[in-house]
Amino acid sequence: MAVATRSPSVVTKIHCALYRVPLAEPVSDAKVHAGRQRPLGDVDVVVVRVATADGTEGLGFSYSKRAGGPALFAHARQIGPLLVGEDALDIGRLWEKLLWAAASVGRQGVAVQSLAAFDIALHDRKARQAGMPLAKLLGSHRDTVRCYDTTVGFLSSKIETVIAASERSLARGMGGIKLKVGGEPREDVARVSALRKALGDGVAIMVDANQQWDRATARRLGRRLEDYDLVWIEEPLDAYDVKGHAALRATLDTPIATGEMLSSATDLRRFLEADAVDVLQPDAIRIGGITPYRRVADLADELNVTVAPHFATQLHVHLAACQPREGWVEWFDWLDPLFEERLTLRDGRVVVPDRPGLGLTLSARSREWLVDSADLPEG
Ligand SMILES: [Mg+2]
Repeated sequence: MAVATRSPSVVTKIHCALYRVPLAEPVSDAKVHAGRQRPLGDVDVVVVRVATADGTEGLGFSYSKRAGGPALFAHARQIGPLLVGEDALDIGRLWEKLLWAAASVGRQGVAVQSLAAFDIALHDRKARQAGMPLAKLLGSHRDTVRCYDTTVGFLSSKIETVIAASERSLARGMGGIKLKVGGEPREDVARVSALRKALGDGVAIMVDANQQWDRATARRLGRRLEDYDLVWIEEPLDAYDVKGHAALRATLDTPIATGEMLSSATDLRRFLEADAVDVLQPDAIRIGGITPYRRVADLADELNVTVAPHFATQLHVHLAACQPREGWVEWFDWLDPLFEERLTLRDGRVVVPDRPGLGLTLSARSREWLVDSADLPEG
């Protein structure tokens, strides 16, 4: 129910902005090697700020790599005004309201990824208003979470460069290293072998094929990689190949991880129902925000599946802290320029910020990357 305008938690206004944040240098994974994508040089981020009558404001964001950022922004601009006059505390109901408002364009992809920014902003506002970090509001299990570095292991980097960067990363407190594979198979194995030899036994190493192996290649290379004591093999197959993942998981001892490219909780649920993963990697933003993420993460835990969320470290550190069975968060610094704050690493783990909400404020420099913005409702 919409509340009277005098209620402190009524939504009064919304600001919505699209940023294009450049990476220090373009990176490539197996999708680029396969000729399906160009190297990634920037990330589009839609930031929404939801203000309520009591003067509290919540910040949420969504992102797109390569195409899609302007579509996210346009969609946010259209559905955002539906929150004005609503009670910001009714997060579950408002998630449904925004979903149904755009039912014609579906329940996954851009439609829910735009919704995610609002869902996150409403959670952030609630935690800020309560004066506590988001993890504490949701119900935390731990104040630090295991963390691994993805930024050092792209296919576009020579293995000597990967090793040197991995050593620096571990020395500053990272708990593991992810190496991209899915290039030339013999080269893949040689790179994994070189990294294991350089870092030594006991250091957590994951590999990520970014969906570019077929089933036979995944079986064959998976067997060859068994010797390297990997934490997991990520996206060995097409993101939607549920049966293929289930069969591969039954064949290999190395745990199988996937889920980042799925854009609804329903798609992730299919992998859980089919016993197709050891490690589920939902991306709260890609599936529509914290509301659907918690649903699917709780189901995974109930089914004894580890949850290791994808990307958006600033958000996922809070969500991973709330998971009974500890997973991992993925370290990316790509969104850092947008925010004033930085996450802290300690003993292989990232510290859950103790500031209220997500603990994020837009940086003074963020306006350098501003593409478009709107105050809602417009006019
Ligand atoms: Mg990945």
